[in-house]
Amino acid sequence: MTRVYESRKRILVTGGAGFLGSHLIDRLLEQGHEVLCVDNLFTGTKRNLDHLHANPHFEFMRHDVTMPLYVEVDEIYNLACPASPVHYQHDPIQTTKTSVHGAINMLGLAKRLRCKIMQASTSEVYGDPTVHPQKEEYWGNVNPIGIRACYDEGKRCAETLFFDYHRTLGLPIKVARIFNTYGPRMHHADGRVVSNFIIQALCNDPISIYGDGSQTRSFCFADDMVSGFIKLMESDGDVTGPINLGNPHEITIRELAERVISMTGSTSHIVSRPLPADDPLQRQPDITKARSTLGWEPNVALEDGLGRTIEYFRKRLKELTLA
Ligand code: NAD
Ligand code: UDP
Ligand code: UDP
Repeated sequence: MTRVYESRKRILVTGGAGFLGSHLIDRLLEQGHEVLCVDNLFTGTKRNLDHLHANPHFEFMRHDVTMPLYVEVDEIYNLACPASPVHYQHDPIQTTKTSVHGAINMLGLAKRLRCKIMQASTSEVYGDPTVHPQKEEYWGNVNPIGIRACYDEGKRCAETLFFDYHRTLGLPIKVARIFNTYGPRMHHADGRVVSNFIIQALCNDPISIYGDGSQTRSFCFADDMVSGFIKLMESDGDVTGPINLGNPHEITIRELAERVISMTGSTSHIVSRPLPADDPLQRQPDITKARSTLGWEPNVALEDGLGRTIEYFRKRLKELTLA
């Protein structure tokens, strides 16, 4: 349902051409807002926004958040940052710059405009966690010089900046710690486990399990995550986070592989590949805070979300083979 004109806001979404950003933009437009999407198209693509081409309430600006940005908006969602290990390790220095310089610029923008700003932080701030499930109070176990550090430490420093702008200047901030999220519009070559397994299964190629597959993750469907972002942004002024957003349903990577094989009816078999350095052994969000503070919890079951993601990749693979 479209909102009344008086409550329409002009909202900036950085990283809006990416997987989660494009879903967030769809939802904000449905709610009747105007959206400015800023993206350098590093991992995102205009294809994710093609359907908005003729929408007068939507605007796209190609821009790198490591550079200053002077625009007029009422609210900022800061999602710009490559998110998959393959992508963020491709140019690790640029990844840290995107998180840190990007946060400084977007916080500077929010400070000038006196507007609310939400940061897409990550469960990676917990590193390879020694506390399970992870609560917001846990400070984490991150290797500061490892191959994941460009992302983990970049996001940790961004959180520091958000809280210092809040403490010293009273800036209204919201920090979401996002756990593994999947769904349509994931990049087909981002190397993340859900996209890899589905594509391998649909092509009847071997399913690559890194290590022995006993490591765990907890997967949240994109639609649920977007609802969490919006609830957090609209929460009371004293709610800053950090707040975990994710689906607590934890499974092993081997179980995920088996489920994808059976859901696609694939003839693929499982092969073992070396476990990448610093790969977290377990991950599961404690979402008590999100439930009590935001009244949010995910409600798309893994089976349903995987079904929708498999359908997306079936179509996408056809497009890619025709292209
Ligand atoms: P994505 O790679 O699909 O989207 C990121 C977007 O940011 C892309 O469109 C990319 O082009 C853009 N971008 C990258 N560097 C930029 C820069 N310097 N300037 C402007 N734009 C830039 O990834 P996603 O999964 O949609 O993730 C979105 C956000 O959520 C990221 O900040 C990520 O760290 C966070 N996050 C995602 C997950 C997940 O499981 N998907 C988990 C934790 C955190
Ligand atoms: N900035 C921006 N847009 C604005 C205001 C600031 O991109 O509308 C950038 C600016 O380039 C600066 C950064 O945000 O480097 C931090 O701004 P802040 O005002 O906090 O710091 P200062 O400008 O005093 O260094
Ligand atoms: N993984 C895997 N096979 C793949 C891709 C990933 O076994 O083809 C594993 C990976 O080692 C990790 C888990 O799946 O343990 C999740 O990986 P992903 O890159 O999706 O996200 P993250 O490690 O950032 O949670």
